[in-house]
Amino acid sequence: MLVTGGAGFIGSALVRHLLTNTKARVVNLDALTYAGNLGSLESVSGHPKYRFERADIGDLRAVREVLGRYRPDAVVHLAAESHVDRSIDGPAAFVQTNILGTYTLLEAALAYWKSLDAAKREGFVFHHVSTDEVFGSLPETGMFTESSAYQPNSPYAASKAAADHLVRAWYRTYGLPVIVTNCSNNYGPYQFPEKLVPLTIINALNGKSLPVYGTGANVRDWLYVEDHVRALWVVATNGEVGATYNIGANNERTNLDVVKAICSTLDRLLPQSSCRPHASLIEFVADRPGHDRRYAIDAEKIGRDLGWKPIETFESGLAKTVRWYLDNRAWWQDILTRRYAGQRLGLAKFE
Ligand code: NAD
Repeated sequence: MLVTGGAGFIGSALVRHLLTNTKARVVNLDALTYAGNLGSLESVSGHPKYRFERADIGDLRAVREVLGRYRPDAVVHLAAESHVDRSIDGPAAFVQTNILGTYTLLEAALAYWKSLDAAKREGFVFHHVSTDEVFGSLPETGMFTESSAYQPNSPYAASKAAADHLVRAWYRTYGLPVIVTNCSNNYGPYQFPEKLVPLTIINALNGKSLPVYGTGANVRDWLYVEDHVRALWVVATNGEVGATYNIGANNERTNLDVVKAICSTLDRLLPQSSCRPHASLIEFVADRPGHDRRYAIDAEKIGRDLGWKPIETFESGLAKTVRWYLDNRAWWQDILTRRYAGQRLGLAKFE
C-alpha cells in the first residue's frame, strides 16, 4: 500500500495499524510539511515491511518514480493541508496541495494503473480520504449521507470538495478504480497541537486559556482515529470500486461540551493540579468566519455493506487521548519548542 501523508495525524495511525495488525507492506510518501512528523512513526520505523519516501504529491516525476519502484496494489491518499483556520489565512497552499496535488497524484496513478498487467490492474484501488466538511453545514436535524449535496463553505472544505470531484471524474472518465471516504472530525494520539482536542489538553496542562469559538455551540461529530483507520483498511480492501462511504461514530458534541469533557477528564486524572477546575480556563473568542453550525455523519452504509463499526465511545476515546498526551509530553513539547508559529487560538502563547 502506498499511503500519502503517512507522517500526519491520521496517516501515521494508518501506517502503524497496517504494520501492526495486517500483512500489508507500506510505503509512506510524505513531504514533511509543518504537520508531518516522523516521530509519530518511531514504533514502526524499523519494520521490515515499511519504507518512507519524502516527496511532494505535486511532484509528478517523484510520484511516478515511487509508484514504479514499489508497484503498490493500493494508494490511500491522505496528504493534504488540513487545518481550516490556516485555509482562511492562506488558501493558496490548500489549492496547491489538495487540488493540484491530488490532480498530479491521479495522473501518476492512472499512468501506473494502465501499465499494470490485467490481473494486477483488476485488484488496484485509489482510495481518497476526504471530509464531511464538503457537505457544508446542517441545521438542528438531519445527517450527511453519501448522496448529500456538496456545499463547502471554508477554503479547506472547498479544496477537499474539488479533490473529491477530480477523483470521481478520473473514475468516470478514465476508468481509474477509485473509492472515496468522507469522515467526521478525528481525535486521538499524535494529533498536531493546533486542533481543538490537543490544543485544549496542552493549554490546560500549561494553565493557559482554553479558547472556544463564539458561544461554543457549533456541533461536530467525533471519530476516534484508530476506529477511523480500521475503517480505511476495510474500505481499501473490501470496498466497492466507484463507491463513496461515510465514516462516523455517532458522537455529536458541541465544541463547548468537548472542551468541558477534556477539563473534567483532567480534573479526574490530575487531582493535585493547581489549575483545577480546568474549566475555569475556558475563554470565548471571536467566531471563525463562515463557521459551519453542525456536522453529523450517517455511517449506516459502511456498517451494513462492510461490517465496520466503531469500538470507542466518545468518553472512552477521549480518556485514552487525554492519557496519551499526559504520557507523551516529549512528542508535543518537541513540536512546541520548534518555535511553531501558530497565530490563532493562542498557539503563539506556547512560545
Ligand atoms: P495532517 O495535517 O495531520 O497531516 C497531513 C500530512 O500530509 C502531513 O504529514 C504532511 O506532511 C503531509 N503533506 C501535506 N502536504 C503534502 C504534499 N504536498 N505532499 C506530500 N505530503 C504532504 O492531516 P490529518 O488530520 O492526518 O488528515 C489526513 C487526511 O484526512 C486529510 O486529507 C484530511 O483532509 C482528511 N480528514 C481529516 C480529518 C481530521 O479530523 N483530522 C477529518 C476528515 C478528513
